[in-house]
Amino acid sequence: MEPRSDPSTTASEGPTSEGMAARCVDVVKTYRTATESVTALGRVTLGIPRGRVTVVVGPSGAGKSSLLRLLGCVDRPDSGAVHVGDQRVDGLRARARRGLRRRHVSYLFQRPGDNLLPYLGATEQVRLAAAMRGAPVDDAQIEDLLTRLGLGHRGAHRPAELSGGEQQRLAVACSVIGSPTLVVADEPTAELDTAAAERVLAAMADLAATGVAFVVSSHDPRVMAVADGTVHLDHGRVVA
Ligand code: ADP
Repeated sequence: MEPRSDPSTTASEGPTSEGMAARCVDVVKTYRTATESVTALGRVTLGIPRGRVTVVVGPSGAGKSSLLRLLGCVDRPDSGAVHVGDQRVDGLRARARRGLRRRHVSYLFQRPGDNLLPYLGATEQVRLAAAMRGAPVDDAQIEDLLTRLGLGHRGAHRPAELSGGEQQRLAVACSVIGSPTLVVADEPTAELDTAAAERVLAAMADLAATGVAFVVSSHDPRVMAVADGTVHLDHGRVVA
């Protein structure tokens, strides 16, 4: 996917909502400090399709984290529109944004331990994630998901009793349970060895095929290899 050449993209309206888990239209994000103003994103227009892994790549400072924060509804643009699912989110007040985030957006952080609670077993972690999302999920669904991710025999294990790769696959399970609209993953394999990273990526690709939308920032060529689409950012702009 190259957002600017996507046939669903028009200059004035951006990608159409059809098939898109999230989209940005002409988004500008500027940070102001006491001494300077930095434009992290300059009129970015793109769509994140459902059922795909979209990887955001670019050099340090290109605007990847800023883009993920906007798509993940933790920050707002200075101008332009951000949509998650069918809802425009950039104008929402903090409370409404929090509610939307809880129901529709999951995060997967770089360090496996940051994604999990140390005192809960694997099944309980996933059950809690579903409850936080307000999604009715039964134990059989949780068991199926853990089995699909190669963790079927680890249901009672707490994070300290799992390897880094198993922890991150458990975090993937928590991120997709309850069918969020979008999973935002910030360098999710950066702390894993190659074998573990490949299993996490395979899990993401497998789950994307069931309809989940992942947007992943990464420098990791292994991540780019499983991507269904790539967004290249440089100096806050989408480049071909
Ligand atoms: P990346 O994730 O690609 O490294 P970022 O989105 O973190 O890029 O940053 C884009 C630009 O915005 C960089 O120049 C960075 O220094 C600047 N920036 C990011 N966050 C802030 C902030 N909170 N305050 C000031 N400048 C920021």
